[in-house]
Amino acid sequence: MAYYDQGRQKKQRITREGDYVDTSKPTAFFKPSGGREWTVSVAVPGSVLSTCRRDDQRTGVVSHIARALAVFAIDEVVVYDDSPFDSRPTNVDPAGYTGDVDPCGYLDHLLQYMEMPPFMRRTLLPLHPNLKAAGLMASLDIPSHPHHTDWLPYCEGVTTAGTPANGSGTIVDVGRKTPVTISQDVPPKTRITLQIDDNDWSIGEPVDPATPRAEGGYYWGYTVRRCKSLASVFEECSYDGGYDMSVGTSERGLPIPDAFPEKKKKDQSNFKHLLIVFGGPRGLEYAAENDPALQEMGIARGRTKELFDHWVNILPGQGSRTIRTDEALFIGLSGLRRIWESSRLTAEREFDLSNSMINDNASQSQISAIVVGAGLGGCACALALKHHGHSVVIYEKLRAFRRLGDSLGLGENALKLLERWGGRDLYHRLTSIGNQAPDMQIRRWHDGKILAVQPLMDMAGYIGHRGDYHNAFLDAVRDAGIEIKMGCGVADYEDEEAGKQPAIILEDGTRVTADIIIGADGIKSRAREQVLGFTDAPKSSGYSCYRAYFPGAHLKEDPLCREFVDHDCVNIWIGEDTHLVQNTLRNGDEFNWIVTRKLSHEADMEIRESWFQEGDLEDVARVTASVDPRIRAAVSKTPSCLDWKICYRDPLPTWVSPRSHRIALLGDSCHPHLPTSAQGASQATESAAVLAVCLKLAGRDNIPLATRTYEKLRFARTRASQSNGEDLRDRWHNALKDVDDGVEIDPETLKIRNRWLYAFDAEADTLGRWQEVSSLVSDELRLGKITPLC
Ligand SMILES: Cc1cc2nc3c(=O)[nH]c(=O)nc-3n(C[C@H](O)[C@H](O)[C@H](O)COP(=O)(O)OP(=O)(O)OC[C@H]3O[C@@H](n4cnc5c(N)ncnc54)[C@H](O)[C@@H]3O)c2cc1C
Repeated sequence: MAYYDQGRQKKQRITREGDYVDTSKPTAFFKPSGGREWTVSVAVPGSVLSTCRRDDQRTGVVSHIARALAVFAIDEVVVYDDSPFDSRPTNVDPAGYTGDVDPCGYLDHLLQYMEMPPFMRRTLLPLHPNLKAAGLMASLDIPSHPHHTDWLPYCEGVTTAGTPANGSGTIVDVGRKTPVTISQDVPPKTRITLQIDDNDWSIGEPVDPATPRAEGGYYWGYTVRRCKSLASVFEECSYDGGYDMSVGTSERGLPIPDAFPEKKKKDQSNFKHLLIVFGGPRGLEYAAENDPALQEMGIARGRTKELFDHWVNILPGQGSRTIRTDEALFIGLSGLRRIWESSRLTAEREFDLSNSMINDNASQSQISAIVVGAGLGGCACALALKHHGHSVVIYEKLRAFRRLGDSLGLGENALKLLERWGGRDLYHRLTSIGNQAPDMQIRRWHDGKILAVQPLMDMAGYIGHRGDYHNAFLDAVRDAGIEIKMGCGVADYEDEEAGKQPAIILEDGTRVTADIIIGADGIKSRAREQVLGFTDAPKSSGYSCYRAYFPGAHLKEDPLCREFVDHDCVNIWIGEDTHLVQNTLRNGDEFNWIVTRKLSHEADMEIRESWFQEGDLEDVARVTASVDPRIRAAVSKTPSCLDWKICYRDPLPTWVSPRSHRIALLGDSCHPHLPTSAQGASQATESAAVLAVCLKLAGRDNIPLATRTYEKLRFARTRASQSNGEDLRDRWHNALKDVDDGVEIDPETLKIRNRWLYAFDAEADTLGRWQEVSSLVSDELRLGKITPLC
């Protein structure tokens, strides 16, 4: 076995089903699945500390409780006092140690400490005797605690006293080298939650701390609430309408499977705010006994259970006489998780449910679709349409496909959809095409010094040959039974009046109609001309690429460049107004480089938008004369290359035909991406998902509602993803300007900020936003006034 294969073997395990599992990366990474309004709260009594004699024991208990809250994604913890009223401490010194005299205060203090992102603790929670053993507590490692590999749309920050360069607003420390600026004036040392600007990661907007959960679906830590009694846990609930489902835990309760039998599961997950209350060593009855309000109501001993909707025994037949509350939390939450497990997967489940609901209707009113263009976008669109119950035929002008292009990135945002439509085999095929290196290196142009290292999956996802991906997409389309009519160029489109089917006119004059026509005909789209009613000429972006893809084996003989072809790797050299990307695939069998440079000459600026224009190798040698000699050696062995002028197009005011609203654009025809975005194919796949779901939700009688909602749902995200590529190019091209050799560059400023794109589930998002956006669109259609996208 080759060394490389041995290396890969180490990273893979075979599942019982025989699938390979990549064990080289953590699999438990939190994946948001659409926003959630529902919450889960847990209440624990101060008496959980009553059996602890020493501070390290108390710290250990709190640490376990906090870990359980984080592991089970609990949103609120309520610390309630279950001690007899007359024994409660008075005049507690807030500056002194409280673990022995005021257990509720101590729990409150340490639980807050644990939840707070570590970088802000020093500022917001000053040294205190309660925290003397805090260093022993295990970290929570939750999404609100920044991690160097994370790029989330939200973050937690603490305001500083500094003023931004423009003189107004506030600088917020978010635990990274580069702070975030907000336009509001907020006093220093205030903790705030920020939504980060998609286009500029140094700008943020303060949001409600619940927003990351409610809108993004992220687990964002827990809030801590302190109560003086068991009754006040309910009475002082901070959620509107209170808790609508409560569970009390007691060894006198029903076993969890009896309290929540499988068949009732659907009703039981029907809560908005769930509360689970744990008792201390003497149980919840002890807490009721020490609560004057409950005593007055006659709720004591055997009647304590009346406080709750469910009264459960988390572990019947326990071996030890006692279960400590911190243990009970882990055991209880494992068992009770079934209550909210179905809700946790709401987006996916609701999606499936609405799918099956809509599927029932779909058979009666199947939508017929024509997709023009069998590129990656057209194939993804056909797969999505078929998956959602529509009938579809693709018309492609080429008679046959060749293995064209070179490196193309496919992100998890697209792969999860393709897996849903084409199955696990398609997912495996696509991911095995991609580069298998764990990281990429960003290097200094002239000497190759590594300036930053970033996991490949955070950067471009799987980078493989476009032709290989295209073949896999084409096979998936054929496997799905979708017809591709090759050699059928579309010469014209007929956008009929409202209510009538639009048509395509093929080059041989044949006219074909369908309920909807999707123009996935690429960057030089004819459909776009039809939709817009004018020619949308490309503009020079002022940048150009030389690019080449060739067998890499012979580079192995040159000691200067051997290191780039003895295994899969990705390296990027950044210089002033230029960068060079090298991508090695298949253990060095295939080698690709792309050098992007700013154009300076008039002649260079001439726009010849083509994937096929041959490049001048002498000019390549000139452009790369000062680059790291190791990569220069590899580039100098290039047999031939392409000269690809990077063209730019202004964002389109609409993606849908004006009369019937039944011809829609998709992919490069409406949202082309720069190569630095690495998202052209992935965004086309997302658009396919959104359009297919919109059609399904609107139904055959409401196609304009579907297409107009589709463009509104997609526009902002594709713009953000497009701008991401421009921002990256500018950061790379300017990084070395005015920086001396000896000066360290902050690696964060060089990294590709694509991570936020990958967690997104286009289908779940469409379901989540359909109601809101489609009702707006419905009004616009009724009034005949469609708001332009830009
Ligand atoms: C030849 C080529 C090479 C590429 N190389 C790279 C690369 O190396 N790296 C990268 O990141 N991206 C590359 N891309 C772009 C990338 O493939 C796209 O960004 C992405 O796949 C989304 O494209 P699309 O399906 O919207 O358009 P395209 O991939 O351009 O597909 C459009 C399809 O429509 C067909 N078509 C066009 N006009 C008509 C018509 N009138 N009638 C019928 N069919 C028509 C075309 O033949 C083509 O098959 C390349 C694209 C092409 C076409």
